[in-house]
Amino acid sequence: MPELPEVETIRRLLGRQLAGKRVEAVTFGARRVTMYPRPAEFKRQLIGVTVLGVGRRGKYLTFDLSNSRKLVLHLGMSGQVRRFGQDAMHKHEHMRLRFSDGETVSFVDARRFGKVCLTDGGALPKPIKGMERMGPEPIATGYSAAFLAACLSGRSASVKNLLLDQRVACGVGNIYSDEALHRAGVRPSRRAGSLKPSEVSRLTAAMGRVLKDGIRWCGTTMKDGGYVLVDGTAGAFQNRLRVYGREGEKCRRRGCKGVIQRKRIGGRSTHFCSACQK
Ligand SMILES: [Zn+2]
Repeated sequence: MPELPEVETIRRLLGRQLAGKRVEAVTFGARRVTMYPRPAEFKRQLIGVTVLGVGRRGKYLTFDLSNSRKLVLHLGMSGQVRRFGQDAMHKHEHMRLRFSDGETVSFVDARRFGKVCLTDGGALPKPIKGMERMGPEPIATGYSAAFLAACLSGRSASVKNLLLDQRVACGVGNIYSDEALHRAGVRPSRRAGSLKPSEVSRLTAAMGRVLKDGIRWCGTTMKDGGYVLVDGTAGAFQNRLRVYGREGEKCRRRGCKGVIQRKRIGGRSTHFCSACQK
């Protein structure tokens, strides 16, 4: 599932490609994801409008439009933003925008957990209402160990579970939470309230670092995962993962002889080293 680094990678690619371009046509595929409003209203609101820029909040991609609306995409489990040119609509393509210079952008989602919404003034439509409750992002300059400590304090849920809460660590999902916990030397099953201040500090730093590394390497493309760059090529961070997807393999921490384990925590498949994560 695309997390902050994957969505940020797409945002950077699209920002360069689309800023200043005017939407000329909107086409819908047969298979639909969650969409708001209806297709006819989408066309009415998008055609003739210019994309001023492409932004991101957590795992949401936002297109700022010249009619002061925003087009908001959530990639769900397997959503992709692709550029197919003038090809016929693809099998899992839900929406395609064509711009005045002939450029196109498509939203593709085989598993259909994604969302495509237009905002109307200040209020967010129901499918993306969750955006209003999102907290700070661990890559933001103001994100602090004091904030994370306050979120974890007194909580009996596992630390892994709380890192997946978008109010605690906005943009973090299953892959980057496992990676950050490994880098911090903290076991994912630990009760959140039991972390020492030094562990919270390490975890704060590790989240920022691993998300930034993920962006630098253009995100994580797993074998079964849907995430690819706009041109269909894979990201490169999967080659640098220390625990995620590495069950049974040797721990990559220097000097550690541990083997990576996989366990379900809070319903999510979680990877860790039982030797160096305490
Ligand atoms: Zn280890």
